[in-house]
Amino acid sequence: MNTSEIPGFYRKTLDERLEIVKTAGNLTAEEAAVVANTGSLEAAMADRMIENVVGGMTLPMGIAVNFLINGKDYLIPMAIEEPSVVAAASNAAKMARSGGGFHAETTDPVMIGQVQIVDVPDPEGAKVRVLEARERLLEVCNERDPVLVKFGGGARDVEARVIETLRGPMLIVHISVDCRDAMGANAVNTMAEAVAPLLEELTGGRVYLRIISNLAVKRLSRARATFPAEALGGDEVVDGILQAYAFAAADPYRCSTHNKGVMNGIDAVVIATGNDWRAIEAGAHSYAAMGGHYKPLTVWEADENGDLVGSIEVPMAVGLVGGATATHPTAKANVKLLGIKTASELAQVIASVGLAQNLAALRALATEGIQRGHMSLHARNIAVMAGAEIDEVDEVVERLVAEKVIRVDRAQEILAEMRGK
Ligand code: NAD
Repeated sequence: MNTSEIPGFYRKTLDERLEIVKTAGNLTAEEAAVVANTGSLEAAMADRMIENVVGGMTLPMGIAVNFLINGKDYLIPMAIEEPSVVAAASNAAKMARSGGGFHAETTDPVMIGQVQIVDVPDPEGAKVRVLEARERLLEVCNERDPVLVKFGGGARDVEARVIETLRGPMLIVHISVDCRDAMGANAVNTMAEAVAPLLEELTGGRVYLRIISNLAVKRLSRARATFPAEALGGDEVVDGILQAYAFAAADPYRCSTHNKGVMNGIDAVVIATGNDWRAIEAGAHSYAAMGGHYKPLTVWEADENGDLVGSIEVPMAVGLVGGATATHPTAKANVKLLGIKTASELAQVIASVGLAQNLAALRALATEGIQRGHMSLHARNIAVMAGAEIDEVDEVVERLVAEKVIRVDRAQEILAEMRGK
């Protein structure tokens, strides 16, 4: 490649862009065709969703089974590249089922829009003037989104704080917006921008940022489930899981991985339904760190019968309208498959999957270790990495697992032997 500066790249057609990339990247016709494949998403649609589109990137999608949430059965689509996540969620859901399934609920779907005001002569006085003007501010916001108001949502409240920063005191105004079935970023950002002139007038300061906060503390999703000790494999397994939880609660190195396991389940459903997984990730981890100490997103306890009780509480800004949820054909089909009617119901399903995923990981870690369960799935990846063709994969996997040596170099040796025959 000579240069990555390509004037007017965004103005070219998708085919023209692909041709440029193919030449620059020395791609074969076959490789270019793979890049160009947009799967279920029409190329023209992909081209309208983001910029500089040349193709698509497909992920496997599996269905998690056995989920019973608030007495309703769900088949749950999960889009993820990591082996064993879908199997683990299904397995945990089966164990939860024997304890009555998951119970989930949500707060109202309220998001926060932030407005940053600097150079305010009297920050504390300005704060009170802003709070006094609450009704006017809410009116200005709601005029911007009559559709959201029609669906029962809209701006609900105004809060203000003076914060100390590297650049001196700032007045930060929060607008709380009930987003109903939208994730709400566009809706909230529009409102935050709309109230900025009035806030400058009220405070005598200058507005800079006007943007949604992903720390969605007013849009929480909670789920709980009882996993009978017997279904888990006995009292020792319950004890092992409680030891693992105590470790995560006390140590950020472990807690990071504990929460990663939770997000394995959460992200996969968020992606399958076309939602913004970066927003969910940002919200989850900032919520976990809110007390100034990074904490597990789940809590594990034993009840009076010695059964394991798990619970989760996590911000869950997901929508059914807006974003890719309403445009991506696979996301639309997945929402239909889930049989959900509201964004809150989707949030409940997602929190339940996060809890199930965490249980499965903790149980595996506290018993035989994670690698044994992962072995044949991991071996498949290794076989492909070693260059196995589709019809060779099974035999390579079988031999790697039998030898308990799951390594690329061994897979290559096995392949060479097979091909030498
Ligand atoms: P949107 O603006 O496309 O759709 C929301 C709008 O749909 C509402 O404002 C409302 O007018 C209308 N609507 C119709 N029926 C509705 C119903 N039943 N409930 C609620 N609203 C209804 O989408 P959005 O949800 O405002 O924004 C989501 C997008 O914003 C995502 O693609 C996200 O990636 C992106 N985004 C995220 C961030 C962030 O997270 N920090 C920042 C900017 C943009």
